[in-house]
Amino acid sequence: MEPANVPPLPGGRRAAEQRLAAIDPRAYGATRNHLDGAVTRLSPYIRHGVLTLAEVREAVFAWLRARGYGQPERQAEGRRIAGKLINELGWRDYWQRLWLLLGDGIWSDLEPLKTGHHPASYAPDLPTDVAAASTGLACIDAFATELMATGWLHNHARMWLASYLVHWRRVRWQAGAAWFLQHLLDGDPASNNLSWQWLASSFSSKPYIFNRDNLERYSGGRYCRHCPRAGRDCPFEAPYEELQARLFRPVMVQDSSRFGAPTDAEPQRITPCAAPCAAPPHRPLVWVHGEALGPANPALKAHPTAPALFVFDAELIAGRTSTTGGEPLAPGRLRFLRACLAELPVAVGEGDVAAELLAAAAAAGSDGIVTSRAVDPRFAAIARQVAGALPLQVLEPDPFVDLPLDGAGAPDLRRFSRYWRRVEPLVWAGFSRSGQG
Ligand SMILES: Cc1cc2nc3c(=O)[nH]c(=O)nc-3n(C[C@H](O)[C@H](O)[C@H](O)COP(=O)(O)OP(=O)(O)OC[C@H]3O[C@@H](n4cnc5c(N)ncnc54)[C@H](O)[C@@H]3O)c2cc1C
Repeated sequence: MEPANVPPLPGGRRAAEQRLAAIDPRAYGATRNHLDGAVTRLSPYIRHGVLTLAEVREAVFAWLRARGYGQPERQAEGRRIAGKLINELGWRDYWQRLWLLLGDGIWSDLEPLKTGHHPASYAPDLPTDVAAASTGLACIDAFATELMATGWLHNHARMWLASYLVHWRRVRWQAGAAWFLQHLLDGDPASNNLSWQWLASSFSSKPYIFNRDNLERYSGGRYCRHCPRAGRDCPFEAPYEELQARLFRPVMVQDSSRFGAPTDAEPQRITPCAAPCAAPPHRPLVWVHGEALGPANPALKAHPTAPALFVFDAELIAGRTSTTGGEPLAPGRLRFLRACLAELPVAVGEGDVAAELLAAAAAAGSDGIVTSRAVDPRFAAIARQVAGALPLQVLEPDPFVDLPLDGAGAPDLRRFSRYWRRVEPLVWAGFSRSGQG
């Protein structure tokens, strides 16, 4: 088993700003698919609102302007150079919008699988050899080790590991998704589950698979060189057509009637917060949650001198909520969150979030609670409890793109391509407007 080669990312705004200052959109576009490519590793900070997508978008624009690409005649070139990074930020915004729309529906297949296999034929649990990083496949064992030791994996490693689990081992994607959420510092049910669904084919037109050539190319061959199974019984060593034939059965009909049962994910709209109060409180308590651990938190910005509280949700930590798919949070995730909180003007508690907030508000003589909107349906449930006892004001965070989340004028979310056709020109219009540098 190869040791993890990346140290865990430190939590906190200072670390996030250092990473943001080091981004190189040009190198990113050219190398991002390679394990040693110039990816940003900003995901844990973005996931927890230490940095917002809007801040990262602005940092990309500033990078372009500093190199003269703000000039009208050079903007198209700048757009080509940074287009890939902006596009990836769009993926995050897209998944978040879907989570807001579907709530816990993201834990169910959004569409029938296109693998030709019945959903019930997939194993419900993570295989023990994968969890122990002892499959004997150097690549898979290295990815599993790195996931558990550092809480971060390159996108390509996530895709290979997930594809191996779902298509080679025929494991339900939900088991792998919960394992990822337990360990990933950026563990986010939307980006995670919907990526798993994309490669499983319950939210895409075909399953994602890879072969040894692909893995060697983007990993620089570092795994196969020492793999005991290379050249002997490597399950990835074949042309794509052969792997397709080995792994899948022909799919004759691709609609929801194929397996004689409707899909179990009926999209259900959720309300981000049941009862936000119109009038802001005079002596507020600020509720800081895990999607807004940075200075852009609109509640902290609006009330910089008010008492503020973050509560570690005991149910979530223990793995009894959909936020981690039933797995307890790994220690590394908790360490990362604590490091982020240490740099914020906020008290930290643990327990029943609504009860802790109401007790703190009573102790501080607060006449209401102010927070920022979150996407996790767990937030909406807690917000409803709080709002039943005390006025609650929910402020909107800075958006990645200024379009409604829901209803008239909201982008079409059925596929990323439709969403992006609408959103991309608006994002770049912001760059053109923001002046020449
Ligand atoms: C099976 C699987 C599970 C995943 N689980 C998560 C997860 O729990 N949390 C998470 O944030 N991302 C997840 N991703 C998406 C992606 O792998 C990571 O966001 C990315 O690898 C993080 O590294 P980075 O910050 O260097 O990204 P970069 O490539 O540098 O991209 C910059 C930022 O754009 C966003 N981004 C990039 N790619 C994606 C993507 N495909 N989907 C959504 N946002 C993206 C992230 O916020 C990222 O920090 C998953 C992907 C797969 C295939």
